[in-house]
Amino acid sequence: MTAQMERAYLGLGANLGDPVAQFERAVAELERSGVSVLARAALYRSAPVGPQDQPEYTNTALLIETALSPLELLELLKRIERALGREDGVRWGPRVIDLDILLYGSVELSSERLTIPHKELAKRRFALQPLADLAPEQVVPGLALTVRALLERLDDDPRSVRRVEPA
Ligand code: ATP
Ligand code: MG
Ligand code: MG
Repeated sequence: MTAQMERAYLGLGANLGDPVAQFERAVAELERSGVSVLARAALYRSAPVGPQDQPEYTNTALLIETALSPLELLELLKRIERALGREDGVRWGPRVIDLDILLYGSVELSSERLTIPHKELAKRRFALQPLADLAPEQVVPGLALTVRALLERLDDDPRSVRRVEPA
C-alpha cells in the first residue's frame, strides 16, 4: 500500500547569514528526507516582527508533497532548522532559518505543539504574499477565505513586503 500523500505549504524566513543560501539548503534537506518540493515562491524582504534591532527578513514559501503526518513534518522541520545552525534565542529574535507549516491539506488542528493553519498566517503579509504566489485561490481552512482575500483584507502598507531578485 502506498502512503497517503498530502500537499502542504511551508513558510521560510531568515535574517542572519545568507538567507537565500539557507533556503537552498533547506530545500535540499527536505528533498533528501523524501519530501517533494513542487513549487517555490519568489523572495520577499520585510522589516522584522518583534524586536526591531535586528536585520530585515527574507521570506519565501514552498509547496511540498509528503507522506509525513503534520507532527512528523514539524519534527523534520525542527531537525533541519538545527542542522542549518538555528540556535534557541528570544522569541521572534534573529535566526538563520525559520521553517513553519502554513497549511497542510485541509487540516485544521490546534495543540500545544502545532497549530494548522499557522496561527498568525492571516495577519502576516510576509507569509501571505509568498503563499499567494503559489496558491492565491486556496481557501484557508477555518477562515473560509482565500489567500488572496486575506491579503486584500490586511490594512498595513503593501510596500512593507518587497519582492527581491535572487543575487
Ligand atoms: P511564529 O510561530 O510566530 O512564526 P516562530 O516561528 O519564530 O514564531 P518558533 O520558535 O520557530 O516560532 O517555533 C515555536 C514553536 O511553535 C515550535 O516549537 C512549534 O512547536 C510551534 N508551532 C506551532 N504551530 C506551528 C506551525 N504551524 N509551524 C511551525 N511551528 C509551529
Ligand atoms: Mg515563524
Ligand atoms: Mg517557527
